[in-house]
Amino acid sequence: MRCSFDLAHYRELLGAAVAGGYRFAFFDAPPRAGEILLRHDVDLSLDAALAMAELESELEAPATYLLMTRSEFYNLSAPSAQQAIDRLRRLGPRVGLHAVYPQAEPEPRLDTVLAWHSPDPDYMTARVAGFVNAMQPGYFDPEHYRSDSNQRWRHGCPHEPLARGEFEWLSGGLMWSDEFPSLGTPERQAMSQAGAVGCLLAARAAVTLGQESGFLPVWEQVARHAPNWPGLRPERRGEAALRRLRAALRRQDRCLAALETQLGANPRQAEPGAAPDPAN
Ligand SMILES: [Zn+2]
Ligand SMILES: [Zn+2]
Repeated sequence: MRCSFDLAHYRELLGAAVAGGYRFAFFDAPPRAGEILLRHDVDLSLDAALAMAELESELEAPATYLLMTRSEFYNLSAPSAQQAIDRLRRLGPRVGLHAVYPQAEPEPRLDTVLAWHSPDPDYMTARVAGFVNAMQPGYFDPEHYRSDSNQRWRHGCPHEPLARGEFEWLSGGLMWSDEFPSLGTPERQAMSQAGAVGCLLAARAAVTLGQESGFLPVWEQVARHAPNWPGLRPERRGEAALRRLRAALRRQDRCLAALETQLGANPRQAEPGAAPDPAN
């Protein structure tokens, strides 16, 4: 995966967050665990903001767009800007103010949420009368804040920490969305026919659990010949993965037990495809 600053990788990022089970929230209340507050400060282009918002709408990952009344590059008083605001709101985002310090005047077309343009640290996180400052305490937490200002991720691109493996029943292992060709593609079909997908997931589950497995040679072969495969990343078989895998396996045991009880209690009904009883 290339971490480029384009809509294709942005789609992968949002996809990872959606697959990771995050909820997208706004600056109405300080974020709770599992929520993402997505915010775009629009310095340059309303058209680019609309293209992003279209993508976010498709992925049901709405953001907060902060617009400038004093941009060097667009005019918020132009009729086309009003159309852009209307379109943004229809797509789902909230629209607030990207203000130039110290001017924070309420603008009737915008919500009362604000972030300063190119702020100094001494006022960046200060409360602002009449507004929610997106960087004020409660919203801004350096531990969880990720910024791509000037196309630079200070803590690395977040696509990896956002992604969370999903339990895959047939192999009994966790699976991440970037590990195999997508379902329905010829590549995936070829892998599935070779049984490679299930073997690898089962092998990694065994490695994660510290168990023996007949699939370990497959795992070792991949480690030797395809060391850049994302599925080999240590965190995918680390402590957090182990906890999730154990929880999934416990759920699986409970489900199978329930299924067995049900089948035992009423075998005919549970097998709709079974041949009719010759005695009837
Ligand atoms: Zn990335
Ligand atoms: Zn700015």
